Amino acid sequence: MTDSSNAEPGIPDRCPHCGAVVDRAKVLAIAEGSRLPPDPILGAGESLRFQPSRFDVSGRPIDPSGVACRRLACRACRLEIAALDGMTTS
Ligand SMILES: [Zn+2]
Repeated sequence: MTDSSNAEPGIPDRCPHCGAVVDRAKVLAIAEGSRLPPDPILGAGESLRFQPSRFDVSGRPIDPSGVACRRLACRACRLEIAALDGMTTS
């Protein structure tokens, strides 16, 4: 087992949309649960962005409805910046 806490694959140092520096400790996750409300800032049709506090065994954020997420969003502009496709699923 290797310590990869600071080496998440696919997370850019800067947001490709707005150029903000991406703080990996504060990156937002994009909810996958279909019953959740849309993001209050981006509006209808956009999935909720949230600060993850729970993670599954693969390190994926768990959204408020309990679904593991695989997309991450910029804290500044809330657009998607990375997808955790490289992570293994069980
Ligand atoms: Zn951004």
